[in-house]
Amino acid sequence: MPEKKYKKDFPILSRKIRESSDFVYLDSAATSQKPAVVIEAMNDYYRKTNANVHRGIHTLAEEATHDYEAARKKIADFVGVDDARQIIFTRNTSESINLIAKTWGRAQLKSGDLVLLTEMEHHSNIVPWYMLRDEIGIQIDFIQITSDGRIDLDHYQSLLELNPKLVSFTHVSNVLGTINPAQSIIEKAHAAGAVVTVDGAQSVPHLPVNIQQIDADFYAFSAHKMCGPTGIGVLYGKRKLLENMPAFLGGGDMIKKVSFDGYQANELPYKFEAGTPAIAEAIGFGAAVDYLSSLSMETIFAHEQKITKYGYDVLSTIEGLEILGPEPAYRGGVLSFVLDGIHPHDIAQLLDQSGIAVRAGHHCAMPLHNKLKIPASTRASLYLYNSEEDIDALAVGLGKIIEVFK
Ligand code: PMP
Repeated sequence: MPEKKYKKDFPILSRKIRESSDFVYLDSAATSQKPAVVIEAMNDYYRKTNANVHRGIHTLAEEATHDYEAARKKIADFVGVDDARQIIFTRNTSESINLIAKTWGRAQLKSGDLVLLTEMEHHSNIVPWYMLRDEIGIQIDFIQITSDGRIDLDHYQSLLELNPKLVSFTHVSNVLGTINPAQSIIEKAHAAGAVVTVDGAQSVPHLPVNIQQIDADFYAFSAHKMCGPTGIGVLYGKRKLLENMPAFLGGGDMIKKVSFDGYQANELPYKFEAGTPAIAEAIGFGAAVDYLSSLSMETIFAHEQKITKYGYDVLSTIEGLEILGPEPAYRGGVLSFVLDGIHPHDIAQLLDQSGIAVRAGHHCAMPLHNKLKIPASTRASLYLYNSEEDIDALAVGLGKIIEVFK
């Protein structure tokens, strides 16, 4: 049972919640817990190294700069990117996608240009495009999903014939759990002449991802969902695209030269990193990537697949419970469901009484919930530290709730 060993790495998981015997954390799609090595790396930085990066020539400034840049390199290696200058530190996935819309989008798209999204997108990959539509009049269309929650590839193919300029899709759905066939979606988009953005918020934490191999043009993810701290994320972009994009925010570090006439933007990646960055967070992010690599993403993925299949089978036996999304072969560790006659908020609140943390609501995917004709769902989401026992605890908790509501 490797998860028993993993659990020990996460101090928070030994907490008792409401006198539960064991705290069961099933909300990792919202944010993951952090292993001690990440917390210690950030503490160590503040205790021993704290200084601003890229500016000073004293020892601490040099060490901080070294550690900050070493983290960037580790993250590049982790997602199969040769050139660390293509890893731009942002605040999170949302900021990364906003950056693309507000720099590449504003410069490259014009009124009437078509952007394709999918019906399973998180608001972070919808609203930035709506904002751009309000600003310059692009058109947006949604690739439909099938009844079992996968991208409808026939509908996708038909929309590609309309010559979209951009296809932007989530690698793994945060509601349905669907793992989308990223490489083939990208290949088809490229054949149609479109640029591709991938929302990797739920993929990079859970499966081996090689961004260069799948040939994404832009790829976004967040540290906090992969054992790292909040406040830092990544935008990957192809070199040429990033070089041709105008800068995003203006300020210190993102310039090469400023005069009384104007400014010249800095080289990559600094051009997109205005002001003092999240230094401790970058170092924590690097430690998170070291931790995940030490276990291997293949092992983590296989473990999650096993627990997901177990969870899918266990939940399927509960009368009146409907799991959203495809069968286990097509999904990652997200199990969202609706339970006949019981509101997801009641379910989440009552499970909390038994020390089980799940999420209830629309999970920042209102259009998808509208499509499914449900206002909300309950989501149990897994990570490396979850076990079959956690699923059993969930099933027992749900059984009690069903009894109460009978
Ligand atoms: N996309 C997906 C698929 C997500 O699950 C999330 C987080 N729930 C986001 C984007 C946004 O991530 P962040 O809040 O870190 O910007």
